[in-house]
Amino acid sequence: MIENGLSEEIGPCDNFFRHVCPMDDKPYLMKILADEHRSDLSKNYQKTFDPKYQTLVRDVIPYFLNKSSPNIIDNYTETILSNLNNACETNRTEFKGYLDKLEKFFGTPCTSFFCVSQISEFDNCDQALDFVKNSLIATYNVLGLPESINKKILKFMDAPSVLWSYEWFDQHRDLYRKFNETSKEIIEISSKLLADTPWVNRMNITNIFVPYFEQLHISNPDKFRDKIIEYFDDFIKKYNECMKESELPKLFSPLCYITVFSITQSPVTMWNAGFQAMNSHPGLFFSNIVVLLSQINLPSFYIGSVAKVIAHEIGHSLIISKNQDFIPYYSNETTKCVQNQFEKSCEYFQEGKCDTIYSRYDDNGADLFASFMISKLLNSHFGADKNNLVEGTTKNITNAQLAFMASATVFCEKVPSVTQDLEHHANVVRINSIMSQNADFKEAFNCPDNSKMMLAKNEQCHIIGKNAPISRF
Ligand SMILES: [Zn+2]
Repeated sequence: MIENGLSEEIGPCDNFFRHVCPMDDKPYLMKILADEHRSDLSKNYQKTFDPKYQTLVRDVIPYFLNKSSPNIIDNYTETILSNLNNACETNRTEFKGYLDKLEKFFGTPCTSFFCVSQISEFDNCDQALDFVKNSLIATYNVLGLPESINKKILKFMDAPSVLWSYEWFDQHRDLYRKFNETSKEIIEISSKLLADTPWVNRMNITNIFVPYFEQLHISNPDKFRDKIIEYFDDFIKKYNECMKESELPKLFSPLCYITVFSITQSPVTMWNAGFQAMNSHPGLFFSNIVVLLSQINLPSFYIGSVAKVIAHEIGHSLIISKNQDFIPYYSNETTKCVQNQFEKSCEYFQEGKCDTIYSRYDDNGADLFASFMISKLLNSHFGADKNNLVEGTTKNITNAQLAFMASATVFCEKVPSVTQDLEHHANVVRINSIMSQNADFKEAFNCPDNSKMMLAKNEQCHIIGKNAPISRF
């Protein structure tokens, strides 16, 4: 599993992230899991596909396939333009009639980005097509960057596999029970630590923190399923209306598709968003890939991967709790400590931009909190056995080592890590900085003080617990 992808050249104490995720072309765990799941979904694609979506799939999908350009928008534009051109050249009166019907469907004044009746106002087909082309470009611009439109357009075509992945969830509900147990365990450990935390005691706010933490729970993906089914149903209804009620010939199907697309709002979902997790206090959301990870039946792997992700999300309710700023915890001392550690690791490992901006504190802090939770969980589940070898691996890896490796492997990328966004440092920084802060990591890999991972360590940061600062400010 992980052990076969480890770097032979880069040791765990030199650059832990690149030890677990070397820049080679060997397949890595997350990709293997995601690909397997995807192929599983597509195998079941036809089987469980609701017949009500079939008209759309039959009409629209062939237009996307076997086209010259890999860019779906180019294909789409090309298809729409050539279809319209055919209709326009063949019979102008009939063409105008179709456009009027289309316009009637979308209402006057036209509610879509794409006002079809204006096409027929032009004197010749070339002018009309120019108008269509510009309208399409304007529509794509309003909808977002071409890249995200590609994704959005594909999203609907992906409807069957999206829906099937919810079926998959139905069959694996027990995995979510495990998520809930883990989150309860982390909340319990955190509550105990909070009771020992100097600034919590000094301000006498344990009675605020504990109930606040106890609200946290794992949200069911079903919450998304209903919304997504509602969206697909609404989409298919409008699409069918566009095609049938206006008695349009098939060649208008891509035009109907894009126009319906522009007048419907796709829900923001988390379930099919790749490796994703979100804290929307008090609900914690996880995508299907995180749930998939919990199928790997090795307790120490689970602690480093799934439990660490859960702990990170719980950490968000502790660090800044930006979704609901109920108990903003801004300790200047801790903030500075955490930020300095991420900056130092970034400078040491030279991947991604090293600007330590405040907007990353919430995630940096949540990462650090999660890393300490790996240690806590290892100790409570394994005790001294954490240094025993994991059974069933081909290399000699201890439970503690596997837990730390698991936390890196879920972030693996085989290309140089880049700073992702205003909230997250590059993955190599995220992993290496929290590992250099973790005493159990040092012990698990026996890292000497003069190793790069240890030299990259700043002073020890304390988020909660008896060593945390006395003041919250
Ligand atoms: Zn986060």
